[in-house]
Amino acid sequence: MPEKYTPTEREQAFLDTVESPKYQREIVNGLKPFFNEKVDEEMQSFYTEGEITALKVLQGTNRDVEHRMPVKLTKHYFNIAKNSEAIMNIVKAKPEETADLVGSEDPGYQMDYSPVEGLLHKYEMGLMYVISTCSSHCRFCYREELIARKEVERHDGTVAKKGLAQIPDIVAYIHKHNKEVADNGGIHPESGREKLREILLSGGDAMVLNNKKLAEWLAALAEAGIESIRVGTKEMAFFPERFDDALLTMLDNWHATYPEVGLRYMLHFNHPDEFLAKDEDGNYIQDESGIYKWIPETDKAMKGLVSRGWISVENQSPIIKGINDDSDKLRIMQRALKRVGAENHYFFCGRDIIAHRAFNVPIEDAWNILNDSQKGLSGVETHARLSITHYLGKTEVAAVTNEPIPGLPGSENGVVIMKLLRNAAGAELRGKVCIVGRNPDAIWFDDYEDRVLFDEAGLYNYDRVREVVEAPPINQCGQC
Ligand code: SF4
Repeated sequence: MPEKYTPTEREQAFLDTVESPKYQREIVNGLKPFFNEKVDEEMQSFYTEGEITALKVLQGTNRDVEHRMPVKLTKHYFNIAKNSEAIMNIVKAKPEETADLVGSEDPGYQMDYSPVEGLLHKYEMGLMYVISTCSSHCRFCYREELIARKEVERHDGTVAKKGLAQIPDIVAYIHKHNKEVADNGGIHPESGREKLREILLSGGDAMVLNNKKLAEWLAALAEAGIESIRVGTKEMAFFPERFDDALLTMLDNWHATYPEVGLRYMLHFNHPDEFLAKDEDGNYIQDESGIYKWIPETDKAMKGLVSRGWISVENQSPIIKGINDDSDKLRIMQRALKRVGAENHYFFCGRDIIAHRAFNVPIEDAWNILNDSQKGLSGVETHARLSITHYLGKTEVAAVTNEPIPGLPGSENGVVIMKLLRNAAGAELRGKVCIVGRNPDAIWFDDYEDRVLFDEAGLYNYDRVREVVEAPPINQCGQC
């Protein structure tokens, strides 16, 4: 792979226009500043003395919460979290989260799909790790192995931390793959995939990159013939001031240079508290028409993006225990996002990350919560589907019945109908269905293993990874 990348003249002319301001996110990094009382007085109260003691005891043990997932928090997000238990649960470390460390070290066996360091090539899409951190860290994050810089076993048996994508390598791979596809009549001769036409800048959070770096990626991918670029970000929740005029001008100039290339902002709001303004009693503020008011900085950030008609703005969120397993809140969220021009894309069931039992909502509950949340919403407000990411690919939890299916043994308590939406390795399995008998406690596919009734999708017939880490109990912790 080449070591150097030389921008074209057009690309360089665009890059020369980019302004890259520095931002004051006022981030607290790690638990140490809380342990040593190095945060300001108001933030110190985020953890009680008892919580600090319990977390300190776990330091350096196999239950160290920061070894699993580092703590990080912006001042903006703290200001929301201090008045919202749901938001606090997103970023506040708790001893319970390492009580059960069962889970996969590489959820979805991502490294199987990594032909170049930092790139996961699935479907007709590439996902790139362009950074290994976010402005704040969600405790439930399913990229905890990347963010905590853990070593992961690769397909070839080597063990290493996940690396970040580099422009020269990625551009060379896109050219090579797409040429091989074109030379073979539109299908890759070995993988059977089509042209690589869409790339997601992910990590971590691509919006933590400065404008210059972001612009370099956008331009290099456009020059390489990518048709649509997605930017995966939770920055509008963590630090909405990032969506300022310098960013929007950069995006406008990029669009003027590459008008045919699509840009999709994939936002990650979990809960309406992250963007709606509240009064002193904690109620969402509504105007005389009943329209919810937004937090001013977040309102400005969202308007900045959606006012560019050529940017599509979509939200996706997992449904997580103690955070947004609440149909009323999800109803408000879907309605408020759609009103301002953001699409509700996916809700997800939690993945089988290490410690997923601390976060995952039972699959059938998640389906019921989302279904209830969509009662009373209009058709355009209810575009989101519930997806659970199987090792084969994204799978929709399409329906949960309360009644048995007549004549079908095993369906006495009702069934769950799942549909494969995407097959990571190719497109041929799309639309295939799997039906299992209900198990209200199921939080992952394995929990239905003994009650599969019909499986044309092959969800229960695949090479599964069982990288399981069981944590032996420790005695020091007084809490659990
Ligand atoms: S924003 Fe996304 S990648 Fe970042 S910590 Fe949260 S879940 Fe993980």
